[in-house]
Amino acid sequence: MLAELACFEQKCHATFPLTEAIYNCTHCGGLLEVRFTEARIDQELLGKLWRERRTSNRMLDQSGVWRYRELLPFDGFEQRAVSLREGNTPLLDAPRAAEYGGLDRLTFKHQGYNPTGSFKDNGMTCGVTQALRLGRKRVACVSTGNTSASMAAYASAAGLDPIVFIPRGNISYGKLAQALEYGARTLQIDANFDQILALVRVLAERAGIYLLNSINPFRIEGQKTIIFEMLDQRDWNPPDWIVLPGGNLGNTSAFGKALRELLQFGFIHKMPRLAVIQAEGAAPFYEFMQTRGEFRSVREPRTLATAIRIGDPVSWPKALYELTESNGVVEKVSEQEIADAKAIIGRCGIGCEPASAATLAGMRKLTHSSVIRRDADVVAVLTGNVLKDPDYIYQYHTGQLKDPEGRLIEPRFGNQPVVVPNDPDAISKLL
Ligand SMILES: *Cc1c(COP(=O)(O)O)cnc(C)c1O
Repeated sequence: MLAELACFEQKCHATFPLTEAIYNCTHCGGLLEVRFTEARIDQELLGKLWRERRTSNRMLDQSGVWRYRELLPFDGFEQRAVSLREGNTPLLDAPRAAEYGGLDRLTFKHQGYNPTGSFKDNGMTCGVTQALRLGRKRVACVSTGNTSASMAAYASAAGLDPIVFIPRGNISYGKLAQALEYGARTLQIDANFDQILALVRVLAERAGIYLLNSINPFRIEGQKTIIFEMLDQRDWNPPDWIVLPGGNLGNTSAFGKALRELLQFGFIHKMPRLAVIQAEGAAPFYEFMQTRGEFRSVREPRTLATAIRIGDPVSWPKALYELTESNGVVEKVSEQEIADAKAIIGRCGIGCEPASAATLAGMRKLTHSSVIRRDADVVAVLTGNVLKDPDYIYQYHTGQLKDPEGRLIEPRFGNQPVVVPNDPDAISKLL
């Protein structure tokens, strides 16, 4: 559909063409969002078309992102999209997790089934396609995590040069390893995230590099399709609640925008409520929503769930808007709660990375406080693959996992490997 970039600030609302390579409003510095400038949608026809595309062998139709291209701002350019068959992630019933979370029933939408193992792929296919549309040869991001893994893969697949800037501090090796393997030029700088982002913005301007950090509005557009696909899989029957972890809050913004568009175009008739879960040591949005005072960033965010270890979430104004529109809530959970919830999700045969498990930990709290009813229809979004962080898993199950303060996390659902003698009788006795 035809669209433009618009400043998200109510009092500004400046607009720009889609082909302007900007990341903030050039008038007021506000966040940018894509806004459709027409509304020619035949909801019934489109619903049918999207369903039919699932049986097509065309790359664009097989992508769980580009299948929904009528609600993406590419206006024909999607024919040149770079895709790795992202999306197409399952809805999984998880009775054991439901019981643990205080619910009769619970469904996970598992974004860890994506090509690079996280929901970042849903956004990155659009972000990199936008780089192609702008004629850029190089793309960059500041990240040690799933963003760099995803950007490296999509940029290389598109024949572009990916450049990853790594800030000082803990490095998540599983994810960094992906960035290296997918061919990203990786530059480590002795500065913190914000300092490097400022530096990269200058470099981007100078060298014509396209930035693919979470502020990029085209990534948000791609992440909308997580919700489009979820509702399509449910025959457009909206759940009562959609639960997700919150870090930079880009996904919260994307989910809210997707739901508003589905409502506007008549695909759904009821707005699900969003529940955003943060880690206690990195919960600036939670604290803000409690007091509704000034937004205060967390100087040193601390959590083992590295994907949500964000002290200054860029998308908080959008997230605030979406939570208000969806009558949503924010909860925070401890390191112990995340670790236990993660083990429970594992025992469902599903598994996920630590940040994703915050969803189940948060639901458990929200049903205890009767915010979510036991009989509610709930979908929780698991954001990353179980293999992203194997050290965490092994340490938890063997009772060696320590939280950022150095306190041991109790392996309440631990599963220790057992050393046995090379002797069938002794082993038989154990089994
Ligand atoms: C990026 C990421 C998050 C956080 O998403 P935001 O959009 O930054 O709130 C959560 N989980 C995983 C696995 C991620 O990669």
